[in-house]
Amino acid sequence: MFSATAAPPENPAVIPTVSISSNETSLTGTCHCGRIEFQLPHKPEYINECLCTACYKYGALWGYFPRKDVEISVKEGATHERYFREDSDGHMSFARCSYCGVATNWQGEGEEHGKPERKMGVNMRLFERGEWEGVERRVVTK
Ligand SMILES: [Zn+2]
Repeated sequence: MFSATAAPPENPAVIPTVSISSNETSLTGTCHCGRIEFQLPHKPEYINECLCTACYKYGALWGYFPRKDVEISVKEGATHERYFREDSDGHMSFARCSYCGVATNWQGEGEEHGKPERKMGVNMRLFERGEWEGVERRVVTK
């Protein structure tokens, strides 16, 4: 999550009209069966359609966030399964819902790559299209 500091208003009796709350901009999305839920603090800076050998087959649209900013909850009846990408030396995994099979995210793995401040890719298809409409779309071809 982020924090915002604002200068105190000149007249303390006047309530500032600008406030930043994570609830105003946060996004909540789920896999198809709803058993895995993702909450993001805000829209991604851009959405990437990655055409690498794995992402191309997943058909995912990635939004990137520091891992610590992404809240993931898993409901009863599903597990959050990971496929450790075999050509990544175990440094990267793709995760999916064990029940409905929807790809939810990729993330770094291990001591270095799995740090909370490192970015992860969240499949923006977990979210209703209207939630991220207007965000720049990019296509990475390698
Ligand atoms: Zn599911």
